[in-house]
Amino acid sequence: MQTPEILIVEDEPSIAEVVELYLRRAGYRVQIVRDGNAALEMLDQHLPDLLILDVMLPGVDGFYILRWLRDRSDLPVIFITARREEVDRIAGLELGADDYVVKPFSPQELVSRVRAVMRRLQRETSNNEKPLTYDDLTIDPQTRLVTLAGREITLTSREFDLLWLLALHPRQVFNRQQLLERVWGISEYIDPSTVTVHLRRLREKIELDASHPTRLVTVWGVGYKFEP
Ligand code: CA
Repeated sequence: MQTPEILIVEDEPSIAEVVELYLRRAGYRVQIVRDGNAALEMLDQHLPDLLILDVMLPGVDGFYILRWLRDRSDLPVIFITARREEVDRIAGLELGADDYVVKPFSPQELVSRVRAVMRRLQRETSNNEKPLTYDDLTIDPQTRLVTLAGREITLTSREFDLLWLLALHPRQVFNRQQLLERVWGISEYIDPSTVTVHLRRLREKIELDASHPTRLVTVWGVGYKFEP
């Protein structure tokens, strides 16, 4: 595999440079951009394998960049934030970040987050899994398409990952923490109700009657399972 390429979008030179140094030592190719507009221009030309994104930037901010990006790509993104209060927004429903660190952070910590995201990515792409079919429901991990009774269902990236994980292990019960770890992959605290909300949306999309689910079943007091 080619050396993975990481783009750092960070306006504080001291942080950008130390992160660059650590990532290079860890064997990654690294580029730095210092403002939001330049980042958009670069991403429009070429996507790296992973993006490290500061929230507060000159020009457009990190949230804007991520929303712009998510319309186009599932590229993994690790946020750098200076404010604890932003963590909920980053980790929760609104934005699809893969992980984050809060300033001040140790560069070593960021490198291990990068490694973890890369490992997850490689696992996902190397699995080369075949589509799953349960009655009239088909889930294709390669194209990330879901069809129900021949009709294509539009899912967000998280909804797809959640459905895929559950359907890959039919009847196995996952609690919300396990789902957070395996689907969101974020190592710090996120509100477990995030899972509940995503599950409800998934049910509205793939169940005949979302209030009486037959596929995405709640196991009271434990968690959720996929019933084939
Ligand atoms: Ca900044």
